[in-house]
Amino acid sequence: MALSEDQIQRYSRQILLREVGGRGQEALLSGGARVDGLGASGLTATAYLAGGGTPVTGVGGLTMGPWSPGFLASARDVGRPVDAMLAQVVPEVNPDAAGTPGGGLLAELPAAWSGDAPWVALGGDGARGAVVFRGADGCVWCFGETVRHLGTPPDGALGVALGALGALVFQRLRLGMGSSLGGRWLSAPGAVADLEIRPCSRCKAAKP
Ligand SMILES: [Zn+2]
Repeated sequence: MALSEDQIQRYSRQILLREVGGRGQEALLSGGARVDGLGASGLTATAYLAGGGTPVTGVGGLTMGPWSPGFLASARDVGRPVDAMLAQVVPEVNPDAAGTPGGGLLAELPAAWSGDAPWVALGGDGARGAVVFRGADGCVWCFGETVRHLGTPPDGALGVALGALGALVFQRLRLGMGSSLGGRWLSAPGAVADLEIRPCSRCKAAKP
């Protein structure tokens, strides 16, 4: 049965959502994220990514500190390696999100950046939270120049909100949505403003 013009109009939203949803979900499930960070923003982002079906693994070498418990971890996890903690709790959040390390990197600043995009940096300027992101087509050096001027991400409620925003940005990059280089300031949960990318010397020279 072919859909009538009326029916297509009536159900367009649903049809569209199902299209995006099906293919999109496959993309999320097949592209992983390495997570480097154990504050409120990093662990919140990890929980959101895992909940949405992105396989997440911890970057080795970090140890859970007394500030870490909250979203995913508990007080008994203090002193444990982050990658071991995540390997245990991520399957509890979503079995689909366990396993194969892969692809992108989501990290709290300061961080070392390498490997495949998407890259999502969680940072701040002492008052606001900041998310800087880079897809496969975004300039590595502009990304680096921008995150170099940012400090550590906020703690508490603003850090949690920043982590949720960071996970959303990562998922959008994974789905090929939006621009491939950019940033957002977060001054309060829900209060988002554009963060200007600092051009690297090459991109600056390329502009007329
Ligand atoms: Zn550049």
